[in-house]
Amino acid sequence: MASPNRVMIVGGGIGGLAAALALLRRGLDVEVYEQSGELKEVGAGIQISSNGTRVLYALGLEQALGRVQVIPTRRQIRHWSTGETWSWFELGATTARRYGTPHIMLHRGDLHGVLADAVRCLKPDAIKVGKRCVGVIQCDEHVQLSFEAGEVMSAAFVIGADGIHSRIRECLFGPDKPEFTGCVAWRGLVPMERLPPHISQMLGTNWLGPRGHVLHYPVRRGELMNFISLVERDDWQIESWTVAGTTDELANDYRGWHADVHAIIRTIDVPFKWALMVRRPMDCWTKGRITLLGDACHPTLPFLGQGAVMAIEDAYVVAACIEKYFSDPATAFARYEQIRRDRTAMVVRKSHENRKQAFSPALANTDEIADSVARDWQQVRRSERLDWLYAYDATAVEI
Ligand SMILES: Cc1cc2nc3c(=O)[nH]c(=O)nc-3n(C[C@H](O)[C@H](O)[C@H](O)COP(=O)(O)OP(=O)(O)OC[C@H]3O[C@@H](n4cnc5c(N)ncnc54)[C@H](O)[C@@H]3O)c2cc1C
Repeated sequence: MASPNRVMIVGGGIGGLAAALALLRRGLDVEVYEQSGELKEVGAGIQISSNGTRVLYALGLEQALGRVQVIPTRRQIRHWSTGETWSWFELGATTARRYGTPHIMLHRGDLHGVLADAVRCLKPDAIKVGKRCVGVIQCDEHVQLSFEAGEVMSAAFVIGADGIHSRIRECLFGPDKPEFTGCVAWRGLVPMERLPPHISQMLGTNWLGPRGHVLHYPVRRGELMNFISLVERDDWQIESWTVAGTTDELANDYRGWHADVHAIIRTIDVPFKWALMVRRPMDCWTKGRITLLGDACHPTLPFLGQGAVMAIEDAYVVAACIEKYFSDPATAFARYEQIRRDRTAMVVRKSHENRKQAFSPALANTDEIADSVARDWQQVRRSERLDWLYAYDATAVEI
């Protein structure tokens, strides 16, 4: 069915739903097509830094997020084997004061639910599940999506928000060439009551060590602890969150690490593993009436915690560009890319650099960790180094 004024979004993840909400709030008609039969996110945590909450608040989500988020009191850095702890009063009130909006920690399903509720509040049937897009074609007047079940839908614009294995990107630009980083990420969630009191705290913890990094932080009002770890390994190359590992395998990756790390690992029912891949930043994201956002066009390593935040910023900007240049798709998407390309490429580059720093073999040495904490994690320097990222206001960009 053709709808000349509609925007079709492929992918109902965090980026796709944020774009749908941003477009609906501007009075544009939107439909989101999600391949899963049920709208849900993986059971894992996510951190949304101040530049992301700034956009989510502008989309009217402050109260709904307040019902599910955790605002951590601070961050602590710990030594991988001795457990020595350095406390930083970064995050919490310090971050909110510096950047105007807080750094929050969430269950991904809760953030996804908040976005889906807000979209459905403006258009109850906007999100279509069980719709796997298999192809896209366009002419001067409209774009046509085709789905696995044989249906065809048309609209004025298409946004491919279909993630790291994007079908829309492949249709526009051909297959990509990911390269394995030699690094695997683990994730798991633990009910807070299973953990000892000195671990079950409302703060973010980063464990620094050689060849690995462990992070844990509270989510869902503090009812769950999210565990994420990164380790150098070359025997696992599947880039997907649906593959379960075992706690024995996870524990083996952190042999010799402090007992508190193992206390958390032992309480995870099923840990999942994801092979980290890198891709060269794309030169262009758009063809005619079709563009991309989020992981579909600038997937990034998780060392800056910015993948979803960049998708949220993209969503706000692409909606503003479509509204302003609705009758001129080429200008709408050219402006969108112009605003977003350098910033997202910088995030991809810096995340890659952080990986080298996080996995330095020198961190095996206790003195080197103390130096690293002083050099790289020291609060004032870290804030200055990251101002370009967190102070950015996607809602105030001139379109
Ligand atoms: C270990 C790890 C930790 C991370 N931590 C953070 C963090 O703390 N903060 C942060 O900001 N980012 C983080 N990220 C990155 C973040 O997870 C991603 O950048 C983010 O999920 C991208 O959102 P998206 O909407 O672009 O894509 P996705 O979340 O992948 O959503 C894509 C959606 O499209 C659907 N889809 C795919 N193909 C089709 C199709 N053909 N037809 C219809 N639907 C389709 C999928 O089912 C999915 O729902 C982390 C990543 C990793 C690996």
